[in-house]
Amino acid sequence: MGVARLRVELLEVCEDPLELLYLSYRQCYSAAFVADLREAKREEKEAFLRRMMASGHTSPLEHVKFTFAIEGVSRALTHQLVRHRIASYSQQSQRYVDMRDFSYIVPPSIASDPVARGEFERVIAEIRKGYERIMQRLAERGISGEEAQQDARFLLPQAAETKIVVTMNCRELLHFFGQRCCQRAQWEIRELAYRMLEICRQRLPAVFEKAGPKCEALGYCPEGTFGCGRYPTREEVLGR
Ligand SMILES: Cc1cc2nc3c(=O)[nH]c(=O)nc-3n(C[C@H](O)[C@H](O)[C@H](O)COP(=O)(O)OP(=O)(O)OC[C@H]3O[C@@H](n4cnc5c(N)ncnc54)[C@H](O)[C@@H]3O)c2cc1C
Repeated sequence: MGVARLRVELLEVCEDPLELLYLSYRQCYSAAFVADLREAKREEKEAFLRRMMASGHTSPLEHVKFTFAIEGVSRALTHQLVRHRIASYSQQSQRYVDMRDFSYIVPPSIASDPVARGEFERVIAEIRKGYERIMQRLAERGISGEEAQQDARFLLPQAAETKIVVTMNCRELLHFFGQRCCQRAQWEIRELAYRMLEICRQRLPAVFEKAGPKCEALGYCPEGTFGCGRYPTREEVLGR
C-alpha cells in the first residue's frame, strides 16, 4: 500500500440532536417537565439554542455526541488528537495489525518537492524492509503474530497511516475546532478539523454555524505575535 488519503465519516449522532439540546436547555429554565415540552417548532428551538449559547451557558451541549470514523491520517496527527481528553478513542492497533505493508501520509511540502519526496519514499521503503527483516528474524526464533508485531512496530514512522474512531460531545467539539481550525495548527489536523466541522454544521447548524478558529469568535488572535495576521492581537485591540 502507498500514500493514504484522508477520509472522515460520521458513524453516529442521535436521531434528533436539536430536540435533545433544546430539551436539555429548557429544563434549566422551565417549571414544567421537559418531556412534556416536545411540541416546539424547529425555528423556535434553534433560536432558543442560539440565545443560550450566546449567553455562555454551554454545559447542556455535552448531551449530544458525534462519533466519527477517520482513516488516512498519520500517527503524528493522532498523537495530537488524543491530547483532547474530553473524548473517547478507538485506534487501530500496531500490535494486533500486521504493518509490514503500511500506508503513509506525505506532507504537502515534501510531496511537492521531487528531491524531498524521493528521499522520503526511499526511507519509507527502507523501513518496510527493516520491518520485514525483523519479523522474519523473530519468526526464526519462534516469535510471531502480535508478539512480533508489538516490537517490530518500533521501526514505524510518524507518517504511518492509522484509523481511529472518535467520539466528542458538542462542547468539546467547539473547543477542538477553536484550537485546530486555527492557521497555527498543524496542516493535517487542521484539515481533519474542518472536515469534521463541515459534518457538524450540516447536522446541527444552530450550534456549529459560527464554530471555527477561536479568533473568529474573539475578534482578536490569542496567539499574540505568533498569529497568522488575519486578526489583530489582543494588545492591538486594547490599544496597548
Ligand atoms: C497550536 C498548538 C500548539 C501546541 N503545542 C504543543 C506543544 O508544543 N507541546 C505540547 O505538549 N502540547 C502542545 N499542544 C497541545 C495542547 O497543549 C493541548 O494538550 C491540546 O490542544 C488539548 O487541548 P486542551 O488541553 O485545551 O483540551 P482538552 O483536553 O480537549 O480539554 C478541553 C478543556 O477541558 C478542560 N480540561 C480538560 N482536562 C482538564 C484538567 N485535567 N484540568 C483542568 N481542566 C481540564 C480545559 O479547560 C480544556 O481546555 C498544542 C496545541 C495547539 C493547538
